[in-house]
Parts: sequence; structure tokens; C-alpha cells
Amino acid sequence: MDNEAGPRLDDLARQDVAVAAWCLACGHHKVLPVDPLRRRLGGRTAVAAVAERLSCGACGGRAIETRPHYAGLGVVAGHRWHGD
Ligand SMILES: [Zn+2]
Repeated sequence: MDNEAGPRLDDLARQDVAVAAWCLACGHHKVLPVDPLRRRLGGRTAVAAVAERLSCGACGGRAIETRPHYAGLGVVAGHRWHGD
């Protein structure tokens, strides 16, 4: 089993997709820009693995989940996909 399967930070950067992170303990959530994460953790880091490096800004918990924040699943200010 490869726990780090799935999209990596480089993949998200290419698609201009941010990382959505939320706390499983208190529900606090945040959308993180991908570029600072790439600089800190490296572009080959799996999106799901970013959670291991985070703690909750609200309750301090470490039970964090991270996923690609694809447009359409929530509010993405400042970006619109062009139709074809
Ligand atoms: Zn929390």
C-alpha cells in the first residue's frame, strides 16, 4: 500500500489548485495557497501528506485532513475556469 498516492503539490500548482485543510477535531478549515507549501515541503509531497505537517490554528489539534481544493467544490475567489 502506498499511503502517499494521489495528487502531489506540483500537480496542484500546475492546475492552479489550492490545498483545503481542515481539523477533524473542531471542524476549523482553511484554504492554503500551494506555492508556500511547495517551497516549504517540496513539490513532490503528496497533498494528503501535507496534513502531517499541520496543526489546527483554532484548537491546536493534529488530526488534520488535506485535499485538493478543486474549483466547484467551494468558493474560490479570484479564479474562474474558462469554458471551451
Ligand atoms: Zn481544531
